[in-house]
This record gives sequence, structure tokens and C-alpha cells, in this order.
Amino acid sequence: MKEIKITSVLQVYDSLDELPQDIQELMHQSMEIRDKAYAPYSEFWVGAALLMENGEVVLGNNQENACYPSGLCAERTAIYYAGANFPGIPILKMALCAKSLKYQLVTPTPPCGACRQAIAEYEVKQEAPIEIYFMGETGKVVKSSSLSNLLPLIFDNSYL
Ligand code: ZN
Repeated sequence: MKEIKITSVLQVYDSLDELPQDIQELMHQSMEIRDKAYAPYSEFWVGAALLMENGEVVLGNNQENACYPSGLCAERTAIYYAGANFPGIPILKMALCAKSLKYQLVTPTPPCGACRQAIAEYEVKQEAPIEIYFMGETGKVVKSSSLSNLLPLIFDNSYL
């Protein structure tokens, strides 16, 4: 038996103000689209803003459904739009934010497991990391320089 140790390194900023201007702008776009989410069941609103290599910004928010599993997270709403409309254009950066109507969310909110798997597909496909920034409604912002920090041992097309 051999033990392996997996470590992830993330950067934590005390507030959005500490981040470069371009990231602050991307996060503000994420907040604007978050506030248009359709989330009447969870009352948990999420926004995603993707900066593409061609300068386009792709936005998404969560879209819920009375049949719960039919809904979709903000991250996948955005990344699938990017994949559909900008095939072959790499995704450089992703800003994610969340807010609850039930309490004040100050904890940086990472993508769920299913979204991490979906983002991983694009990172593998474009052979370049996607920088991911995530936060709650206010407070700290976490930066991951690559999706792989958030999803070690990814399942990708090399297994197929
Ligand atoms: Zn998700």
C-alpha cells in the first residue's frame, strides 16, 4: 500500500476590492445576472460570468423547475451557452457569486460537484486552466487558479 496526499492551494481575499479591476467588473456582471435568477424553490440565487479569450462575457444564472432535477445551476447554464455559441474559444476566467433570500450569505460559495465536473470538461478540452473566483453575497472572495484545484482525480475522456 502506498498513500498519496492531494493538496489544493487557493487564494482568499478579504473583499472584492482587493482584486484586480477586471475581476471586480466580471464579478459585478455576475451579481447583476444573479439577481435575475429563477430560483423560487431554493431562494438561493447564483450568478456566473465567464470571460472568453475573444473578450466576450457569457452570463448565466440558476434556473429552477417544479420538477427539481430539471433545473440547472448558473455555472452550467453559462458554460453550456459558451460551448454552444463560442466553440473553440477558450474560457479564461469565471466569476461566481451567490445570495440567499433567507439569510445573509457571507461564505464564499464554490460550484457544486456536478458543475465542477462540467467545468472540468472544458478545461480539459481547451488544454488551459480556467481561473475561478467565487464569493457569497458579500465578504471574502476565493480564487482558484484552475478547476483542477477544486476537483482532484477528475474523470475525463482519457478513461473512455
Ligand atoms: Zn452546480
